[in-house]
Amino acid sequence: MKVVDMHCDTISGLLHREKKGEQVNLQENHMMIDLTKMRQGDYLLQTFAAFVNYGRCENALESALEQIDLFYRLMAANQEWIRPVGSYADIVKNQQDGVMSALLSVEEGGACKGNPAFLRMLYRLGVRMMTLTWNYENELAFPNESRPNHPHGMIPDTEHGLKAVGFDIIEEMERLGMIVDVSHLSDAGFWDVYHHTKRPFIASHSNARRMSTHCRNLTDDMIKALAERGGVTGINYCNSFLAADGRGRGAASTEEMSAHIRYLMNLGGEDLVGLGSDFDGIDTAPQMQNCAGMQQLADQLAHDGFTTGQIEKVFYKNVLRVFEEILK
Ligand SMILES: [Zn+2]
Repeated sequence: MKVVDMHCDTISGLLHREKKGEQVNLQENHMMIDLTKMRQGDYLLQTFAAFVNYGRCENALESALEQIDLFYRLMAANQEWIRPVGSYADIVKNQQDGVMSALLSVEEGGACKGNPAFLRMLYRLGVRMMTLTWNYENELAFPNESRPNHPHGMIPDTEHGLKAVGFDIIEEMERLGMIVDVSHLSDAGFWDVYHHTKRPFIASHSNARRMSTHCRNLTDDMIKALAERGGVTGINYCNSFLAADGRGRGAASTEEMSAHIRYLMNLGGEDLVGLGSDFDGIDTAPQMQNCAGMQQLADQLAHDGFTTGQIEKVFYKNVLRVFEEILK
């Protein structure tokens, strides 16, 4: 079963190691994602995020640029395995050429500093998806997680959404053909995006809040709205976003992932769900260990009664549908 994944933090992890003086390598490493393991897992495409820790960096744009530079150095060193894509046609061509595809995203809208010129420059550098916030308020919007004095993950922000410049930025993203990602965004921000956009958008790595109370997950109303818009949400393998109490411990199981997929599909239909592993961004490895084990999830879904057609949609077809529509 082919795999298309909307989110991982492998690049920031590798950059961190490189800065400590280590030789970094995408072909084979000890992280959850490398190219050898991706081949074992039957990957068609991985989205690589330039993840910016807005609260701990001086310049979000510079932080993103350093990671984008590493991304292209790794791509250049591994052209026989994987190649970057800027359009849906590039994905098709890579498949024909027998290589995997890499889509570049930025996880932190603060990287464009509220300036559409910087957003356009990121687009020209190949960025095709942007998560509007991480866990901090930035120039564009408010997230769900960093409000002071609330128990971790339990109280979503339904009051503070997009700022004025945030609306300008999502308009420009739609015009450019860049995918708007609402994972991490506040509940109010989700609805601002929904009401202010016309095209499909995504939650690259978020599950169902009814199944797991963590506020990084989507409410039923959000799930229905996202489905109605033709968007997708990517199943996140973080144990806290899968466990009922939002405080997962130990390795997340494929059974838990399957249960979230079932719930999302029942509510939003079979065109809504994709994959957003969060590999190399999550602290605890799931039961499948790393990307080489992805077929364990396919086997679990088959065991739980999902049809082959439904599993194909979750594993790659739904996300490719959105990519085909937005990435021109
Ligand atoms: Zn994230």
